[in-house]
This record gives sequence, C-alpha cells and structure tokens, in this order.
Amino acid sequence: MKRSRRFETRAVHSGEHRSGAKDDRDGVFYPISTPIYAATTFSHPNIETTDRVLGGEEQGYSYARYDNPTVHAFEDALLSLEAPEAEAGVRAFAFASGMAATHAAFAAAELTSGATVLAAEQLYGSTATLLVQIFGANGVETRFVDAYDLGAMEKKVAELRPRAVVVESISNPLLRVADIPEISKITRAAGAALIVDNTFGTPYLQRPLELGADIVVHSATKYLSGHGDLTAGVVAAGPPYAEAVEQLRKLVGGVLGPFEAWLAHRGLKTLPLRICRQCENARAIASRLAVHPKVAKVNHPSLQSHPDRATTRRVLSDTGGLVSFELAAEGREAAFAFLDALELCVKAPSLGDIYTLAIHPATSSHRELSPSRRERLGVGENLVRLSVGIEHAEDVISDFEQALERL
Ligand code: PLP
Repeated sequence: MKRSRRFETRAVHSGEHRSGAKDDRDGVFYPISTPIYAATTFSHPNIETTDRVLGGEEQGYSYARYDNPTVHAFEDALLSLEAPEAEAGVRAFAFASGMAATHAAFAAAELTSGATVLAAEQLYGSTATLLVQIFGANGVETRFVDAYDLGAMEKKVAELRPRAVVVESISNPLLRVADIPEISKITRAAGAALIVDNTFGTPYLQRPLELGADIVVHSATKYLSGHGDLTAGVVAAGPPYAEAVEQLRKLVGGVLGPFEAWLAHRGLKTLPLRICRQCENARAIASRLAVHPKVAKVNHPSLQSHPDRATTRRVLSDTGGLVSFELAAEGREAAFAFLDALELCVKAPSLGDIYTLAIHPATSSHRELSPSRRERLGVGENLVRLSVGIEHAEDVISDFEQALERL
C-alpha cells in the first residue's frame, strides 16, 4: 500500500498482500483477507532456504515466536498508520498485551541498573508499578513529574539526566493532552529517549514519532482493535530501538498469537470510522453534561474550561472519545448510584470499544493509589469516566440523564 494514500484508505488496505495460494483442485486464488496462519513453524522448498531464513540472510518465516504472516500483516497495517512518512528502519511489533509491549519498550530504551527514568505522574497505574517494582528491583530509579507542566519537565530532565522519559499522549482520567513536540525538544537536548503511550490518542489523533518521540507503545486491546474482544499491544520505533525490541520479543516471547492478530487487524480497518464517531459523540455528551445541574465539572478537550485546549489544537487532529465528570453530589455513594442506574452504557473498565463504557476511576484504574495521591491527581470519589462508543449520541445522553435524575 502506497504510503501517500490517505489514512482511511491505508487503514482498510494496508497489510493485505494478497499473495496467491495454490490449490491442487482449484488452481491459484487470492484470499482478500490475510488468513490466520495457525502454524508454529514454516518449511521451505529446500533446507538451504531454511538455513538462510534462520540466519537472517533471506526474508521469510521460520518460527512463530520470531514472526508469523498474520501477525506481520497487522504490524504492517499499524506501521502504515503510525509512521506513514517514516524513514527506513521504523518498524512495528505486536505483543500479547499492552503491558508486554510497554515492558519491551522500557527494556529497549536500556532501563538497566543505574539508569533513571522520568515518568509522568499521571501514567496508567500498571505502567508506573512496572517501572517501580520490576525495573526498580533491577536498579532503575523511577522519578515522577507533572508531564503537563513543561517548566517542571525541563527542570527535572536537567536535574536527573534520565535515560528515558515516559508520557501518555492523553492522560487518564482527566484527559490532559501532552505537548509531545515541546517535550521531545527537551528530551532530545538531554539525550533521553522519549517513550509515548499513544493508547488514548491512536494514530488517528496523533502520530508521536512524527512529533519527535523515539518509541511509541499501544495497548491494542483498546481503540486499535476496538471491540472489547482481545488483548494485544504494539511497539513502533526506529533504530536502534526497533532491533532491540525485536530481539527482546524473540527471547522473552511475549508475541501476539495469530488469532488475536487477525482480529486486531480486522478491527484496525474501521479505526477512522469508529474514532470519528466517538469524538463526535464525546463532544455532544461533554457539552450536555456540562450544563446538567447534577454535574459539577466535565473534563474534555473540546470544552472551553479544558486546560490544554491550545495544545490540543496543535497536537491532536480531534478531541478524543473519552470524557470524565464530577457529580455535584459528593462521595463514592453518588458515583456508584449513578453507575448502577445506567441501563444502556456498560459498567466496566477498559476503553476504546464500540460500546459506551462507564467506570469509577477511584476504585478501578486508580485503586492502588493512596486517597491523598488520588486527591492530588484530581481523581475524587465523585469522578466518573466514560469511554464513548459508536451508538447514537442521543440514546447515550438519555441514559445518563435518566441515571442522573435518579440521584
Ligand atoms: N497503557 C494504557 C494507557 C492503558 O490504559 C492500559 C490498560 O488499560 C495499558 C497500557 C495496558 O494494556 P493491556 O491491558 O493491553 O496490557
């Protein structure tokens, strides 16, 4: 697929190489969707070819932990979206989960004994725990910074000289928008690798590699696959990180299976359609909630009140499909009562699905944090987060309104 074709076209066609298959009875035919290659190993017309493929002198498949055509098709499609203009050497690697992908990205950035990593204090909880517990046990020091305060970021980078800086393109659950171009100037000047978790952004809203990031990771469990039916992750990076990620995946073995890769690739084809609708619905929902008397505050980058409106205009192509809001009623009881009163929206963690999902961050994504840290991050007991789906916006709004009425 030509890289110059538009995003929507690349989403539909990229990765499908449509090579001919030969059947003794039916002759040559071309499956329009890459088949699921449920094979652990691949043979070749002669053992010399196998030798060259195993030795890396010839392109090809040998063993499924190293590479698989179905997984490769998904990676190719993702790469055409995340890095369409990238110079040679930028590659995408699919993993069995977002956390496996994140682990590989950190290891590829040489987070080894003696290194310091500077992480956004708003990071997804498991990512922060991975750094502190797993990398910490191996001698890596993790320090945290408010990633949405450029002055603080610049100061900490100068003071700590970290080997890597880790941020999310859009934070959870307050939906702060990171200024990746400005952060990348800071990391470049200090020789630190910039790792961006673009799970909330997706390549439709932002392509961090084009904005100066060195490594991009995704939980493909979310928007990329989009239907709440698989667990997957992706790393996209250029040299020298790409080679390190490939080697880590071969040796640690957290590769994505062909069945999930096929599903994820199918989901990816509708990413632009889904996100467009999710952004549109999220704007409608945010503006209606913002004037509801039982709602105290709404967080969404489309609202005048959002602190990163100007950054959003510069670094995102749209305002995203997540919304969070504080109920006017104080406390956990009100949030639980609201969630339990929902009749259409699904009460469940995760995000990026076709269904509208609603959760209580204080007892889910931010459960492990102390109440004072949650308070400091603005994650109160009366905060609800929505991952807006592709339903008709008015049906979702009616569901919220009837649930709010019952408070
Ligand atoms: N990054 C972000 C921003 C997430 O929200 C999540 C999961 O919620 C992950 C990474 C981890 O992804 P996975 O659950 O696919 O391992």
